[in-house]
Amino acid sequence: MSKKLFIETLGCAMNSRDSEHMIAELKEKEGYETTDDFKEADLILINTCSVREKPVQKLFSELGVFYKKKKEGAKIGVCGCTASHLGDEIIKRAPYVSFVLGARNVSKITEVLHKERAVEIDINYDESEFAFKDFRTSPYKGFINISIGCDKTCTFCIVPKTRGEEISIPDALIIQEAQKIVNAGAKEIFLLGQNVNNYGRRFSGEHEKVNFTELLRRLSKIEKLERIRFTSPHPFHMDDEFIEEFASNPKICKSMHMPLQSGSSKVLKDMKRGYTKEWFLNRVAKLRQECPEATISTDIIVAFPGESDEDFAQSVDVVKQVKFDQIFSFKYSPRPETEAEHFTNIVDEEVASDRLSYLQALHNEILDEKNAQQLGKTFKVYFEALNQGGFVAGRSDNNLLIKVKGSDELLGQFREVKITSIGRTILTGEILA
Ligand code: SF4
Repeated sequence: MSKKLFIETLGCAMNSRDSEHMIAELKEKEGYETTDDFKEADLILINTCSVREKPVQKLFSELGVFYKKKKEGAKIGVCGCTASHLGDEIIKRAPYVSFVLGARNVSKITEVLHKERAVEIDINYDESEFAFKDFRTSPYKGFINISIGCDKTCTFCIVPKTRGEEISIPDALIIQEAQKIVNAGAKEIFLLGQNVNNYGRRFSGEHEKVNFTELLRRLSKIEKLERIRFTSPHPFHMDDEFIEEFASNPKICKSMHMPLQSGSSKVLKDMKRGYTKEWFLNRVAKLRQECPEATISTDIIVAFPGESDEDFAQSVDVVKQVKFDQIFSFKYSPRPETEAEHFTNIVDEEVASDRLSYLQALHNEILDEKNAQQLGKTFKVYFEALNQGGFVAGRSDNNLLIKVKGSDELLGQFREVKITSIGRTILTGEILA
């Protein structure tokens, strides 16, 4: 009887890729099969996120539920960013947890499995050249880590404390992984890193200096690879060479995530983001000049300590000027071991909520306006998932989510689609060819 593994993944795409790595190692080396029902699992893993307080709270309530309802003898392991920063405190608060495995120690999963109360959370453990076994959630696209950790010091962010210093993965390993994904029939790869366009600054061993733009060029040479996506680039590293390659390279999907965080240069300074409102808008202008059809998404934090009405108005101004296609917006959440945790000029909670609602309402207005302009347009869609009501969904090159009536025969296929109706998050169309 194969052993059953239940894994829950919280947080970002890098956590999802880490979960795929752990599943691969446990399948290949320990004979586990995955299950969606934690009650029948022999091993329960929760891959955690620490970017805001809420997911941390959620962790302990979930652990309680797992413990009460798990199969006799089943083990529980806590992985990911909260594991890195709480470490053995997790076992103190939940003594039934068998091991704690930090975000940067994924390759040790089969090791800690056989140790009771193991805590492996070295945030600078170097597994950048570890050859993980293969497992992918989707047969149509593959996520690839190109770097781990982050060298920035954004004052609100806990990531450098949970994922450690930035180290790039050798391009040969990345190209090898991309080739495997294409050989398995997928047509799209998704490159992951905290700051992808800072790629190549530091490798584990001796290595030829390859920057992100060059890495994109090398990946584009892979035959049958049709689409390259990536997240997250840092606005500070958006030089002209990068933007021009983005625009001219037919395999690079024309959607760019540009995390703004705040539109106020004063707040950006307090956040230690390394750029100003003017630089950000300059880069957007360059991108739009080189690639008018590109869609732009962003991250915005409202109510960072010291954010005045005027500062917030600067964020609103950038949103009105840029008209983002997607905004991930949040109220500031103080994180342990960050510089901003000790900032005193806290914005009132009610003001924070009002600013967030205002920003989200403004964005929805802009989104409705932009989506309305898509009616009747045609997009080349790559179908990746079945959708309710007999629909199949996929994405355009510039990352619009589009669904058509159809069956699973469309999955993994490209089709020209004409937009026939509009929704805020998904467009509906009919296949032309
Ligand atoms: S760039 Fe800043 S926000 Fe992004 S992961 Fe690094 S420290 Fe965090």
